[in-house]
Amino acid sequence: MASALLFASGFGGLARPRETALAFGAVLAVLGTVVLRDVRKSAAECRTTVERLTAKAALLEAESQKNRAALDGLADGLDVWIFLVDAKGDVLYANERAHQVFGRNDLASRSILAATFSRELTEMVQSAAQGQDPPLLEIVFGSPYDKTGMARVWPESPERSHFFVSVTDVTDLRRLERVRRDFVANVSHELRTPMATIRAMAETILDEPEAPVEASRRYLEKVMSEIDRLTRISNDLLALSKAESKPPAQGRVDLSETANAAIQQISAKAKRKGIKTGSDIEPGIIVTGSEEQLTQVLLNLLENAVNYTTEGSVDVALHRVDGSAEFTVVDTGIGIPSEDLPRIFERFYRVDKARSRASGGTGLGLSIVRHIVESHGGKTGVESRLNEGSRFWFTLPLA
Ligand code: ADP
Repeated sequence: MASALLFASGFGGLARPRETALAFGAVLAVLGTVVLRDVRKSAAECRTTVERLTAKAALLEAESQKNRAALDGLADGLDVWIFLVDAKGDVLYANERAHQVFGRNDLASRSILAATFSRELTEMVQSAAQGQDPPLLEIVFGSPYDKTGMARVWPESPERSHFFVSVTDVTDLRRLERVRRDFVANVSHELRTPMATIRAMAETILDEPEAPVEASRRYLEKVMSEIDRLTRISNDLLALSKAESKPPAQGRVDLSETANAAIQQISAKAKRKGIKTGSDIEPGIIVTGSEEQLTQVLLNLLENAVNYTTEGSVDVALHRVDGSAEFTVVDTGIGIPSEDLPRIFERFYRVDKARSRASGGTGLGLSIVRHIVESHGGKTGVESRLNEGSRFWFTLPLA
């Protein structure tokens, strides 16, 4: 192209080759400079554009990583187990909660069946992959997970190549429902027994108007004792419901005085049974809470110790231990079999129903103790040996 320009501009007609060559060189140099400047300019412009685009891409990448991290954070923070699976049912993603529940850190390399051991959940994914919308389903994830969850499966996109699986943990909810059902059943059973006795006694009195006064008196005494029993049950139910639903009053309670008063109250019964009582009460131990409720705790524990002891002693102690008030009552009574120990603080749980009834027990005393102590920020416990005796204790924070 350079020679074409040369001829076109008339240099081709110069006679002397040296001048011609010089002129040719000069033109080439000028042209070269111009071309080089243009090339440099274009290259600089290109570089700027590439740099701008690279910076923009990095920005977009950072933003998408931030969004991804936010979504992961959101999914991990939810109290729901979340999976992303493909149409074959292979797990591509599982959130933190799912990893915690299913106890593995490699869920994303397994099938949903291998990850959760749930055939029902696998079938939900299969039916979604076949174009259906499986309804919400409650699934029991058996051993080793022992969980119950509400499962939902839905497509991630209209192509139905991937699916979201979410499982909401309803284990605690179902457990509470079971506890409530058992409680209602227990209450109605506990009420039915004395009411049936009262009815039977009243019928007998009605059917035998000519019965000797002594016999009628015995029936009426039985009626009275069953009414007392009903009253105790309803009082205990009220105490339990109060301890469960309301925070305790925040008064200053001299626990040392309250304990002495409770021991005083129980000692007459202990004496009648020939049981020795001993007490080691550190004075001036003050806690914060409801005096009425704490008195009930002390009386329930002391009454049990006396009720379940036929001979020997009941010893009570109250001390400051590690910044807490620690109350213990030790008896030399019938003791509690080790298999029953974990359950005796449950409502209506009794080791020996007949013995508990005979001593006027409702089966609610220890659960009231635990609820009241815990609502006051304390702890309860028991150690016991069958036929040797028991040691019940509770701690409360000092005021
Ligand atoms: P109850 O009204 O039947 O005494 P509690 O809730 O107070 O109910 O106690 C639950 C069960 O724990 C009792 O039925 C009894 O079997 C057992 N228990 C409680 N305290 C003692 C104790 N000091 N010695 C032996 N067994 C006890």
